[in-house]
Amino acid sequence: MLPIAVPWVGEEEQRGVAEVIASGWLTQGPKVAAFEKAFAAACGTAEAVAVSNCTTALHLALIALDVGPGDEVICPSMSFIATANSIRHAGANPVFVEVDPRTYNLDPEATRRAITPRTKAIMPVHQVGMPADMDAFLAIGREHGLPILEDAACAIGSRYKGRPIGGDGVMACFSLHPRKIITTGDGGMITTNSEPLAAKLRLLRQHGMSVTDAQRHGSKQVVIESYLMVGYNYRMTDLQAAVGIAQMARLPEIISRRRHLADVYRERLASVKWIETPFVPEDTEPNFQSYPLRLKAGAPVSRLELMNHMMTRQISTRRGIMLAHREPPYAGLGLSLPVSEAASDESVLVPLYPQMTDGDVHRVCDGLESVVSRNALAS
Ligand SMILES: *Cc1c(COP(=O)(O)O)cnc(C)c1O
Repeated sequence: MLPIAVPWVGEEEQRGVAEVIASGWLTQGPKVAAFEKAFAAACGTAEAVAVSNCTTALHLALIALDVGPGDEVICPSMSFIATANSIRHAGANPVFVEVDPRTYNLDPEATRRAITPRTKAIMPVHQVGMPADMDAFLAIGREHGLPILEDAACAIGSRYKGRPIGGDGVMACFSLHPRKIITTGDGGMITTNSEPLAAKLRLLRQHGMSVTDAQRHGSKQVVIESYLMVGYNYRMTDLQAAVGIAQMARLPEIISRRRHLADVYRERLASVKWIETPFVPEDTEPNFQSYPLRLKAGAPVSRLELMNHMMTRQISTRRGIMLAHREPPYAGLGLSLPVSEAASDESVLVPLYPQMTDGDVHRVCDGLESVVSRNALAS
């Protein structure tokens, strides 16, 4: 079976973990600090704060912005459900807004119309690594005095107008889950250019403690810590960060492989009239965390038939990006978002990961094309 994605890890990650085990410092310590530095450098930001995953990253970022009960945060429904959940974790309400049907990213004009006196922040998602139109969101943020918090879960290594994703909004949150671009098993990172916000995030992630374990152990004097706010335990461990440091070194190659494979898909599928390959806006360089295909009107098969056909050919596929407003926690809102619903229902993800060969991509495309001849034979 050709899988949908495989994380790329190897000996360098193993050596890093072995070093941490030998050092005896297993929790948040020097490796986390080094990983944060490397991540901030890749994103061109002043600061990066490592946490336990991207959902906790989003939760902490919202808390740092004083988002709480009664507040509204604008976000897409068409996203992994953690986007909306993080807003609920902060006690606030997600306000679901339509996406641009070409990029699956939050629609700036629909966002503008959804702003109310209760709106506290806007959370665009760089969906499957495709950069959202940040200049449009920054302009809306300036007009209305609202912070832009980026859900950049899938977007490390993507670029928007030449700028790496991570430094445009007040904060950007990344995921290090194995299904993303680089991984630490589980993990998250918050980038920001604000020193005060970074300091607040560092307090919040570790119980509100005034000194870190590393500072206390490193001190020549007795240190009595205090707890400055109701914090959380959202730490990343040095075991994870050691993996992350090795992953950062692989990032350029991972991105260039993904872009190359996306090119192979695009060129090969250009002649398949019923399939639409991802639209890439001018001035954006996506990392192709996933490769979503859209079935055009008049496609010879339904999406389910296509996915089943691919399975018989030993090729994994996944449905398109989910819709939070269709899931039980949010279905009660009774929302109808026709653009998002069509985009989700008509799209399918096909395998894309850096270890794939060009031949693997052609095997997937052969599978897609063969569904038509199969149908012709059956009729
Ligand atoms: C994966 C993902 C998340 C959640 O990331 P975790 O690290 O698993 O918590 C949040 N938002 C989006 C858009 C994602 O794709």
